[in-house]
Amino acid sequence: MKNKRFAIVLDTRKCIDCKACTVACKAENNVPLGRDNYRNWVDQGEVRGTYPHLGQTFTPGQCMHCSNAPCDHVCPTGATGVNADGIVTVEEKKCIGCKYCMTACPYNARYYNEEIEAVDKCTFCAHRVYQGRLPACVETCPTKVRVFGDLNDPCSEVSLLVAKYPHRVVKPEMGTKPYLYYII
Ligand code: SF4
Ligand code: SF4
Repeated sequence: MKNKRFAIVLDTRKCIDCKACTVACKAENNVPLGRDNYRNWVDQGEVRGTYPHLGQTFTPGQCMHCSNAPCDHVCPTGATGVNADGIVTVEEKKCIGCKYCMTACPYNARYYNEEIEAVDKCTFCAHRVYQGRLPACVETCPTKVRVFGDLNDPCSEVSLLVAKYPHRVVKPEMGTKPYLYYII
């Protein structure tokens, strides 16, 4: 049987910057409080238009689970790894805190967790996914910005969205082959 290839498709037009995804992620994954500790985030775009007709774009982000992951290439201990289903992981006990991976990641998707003395980042909530549940951010988002699923299943919602809508990845020029797709 073919491996799964997990991905997230985001429709940023639906994002209202409520930050429920970031709160849910912190609670689910024991991410310490503070701005420097995060597994996901929401970027705020420029305000457009003239009063009272104003608009703003919000762009949620997290580890892109790159299939050519620089963080994996530079990790000297094998703490960072890529699962067969594409989920990029960090094995806490093997991490020596050198932070090479933080420097190598073009998306600033990793942070150093002082409490566990290891680098940490989004895992697509692998512990939930392997139980058949959705990542906490996906489940929590009130406007359903994120859709999670298996790109190797042509009938999955992620596959159908990618086939139907024009989309982009972030920094394609880096050659990292990310698996977060943003609908344009
Ligand atoms: S986004 Fe960064 S941390 Fe995530 S797989 Fe890519 S290089 Fe690694
Ligand atoms: S900080 Fe940890 S995960 Fe990152 S490169 Fe060093 S050992 Fe690997």
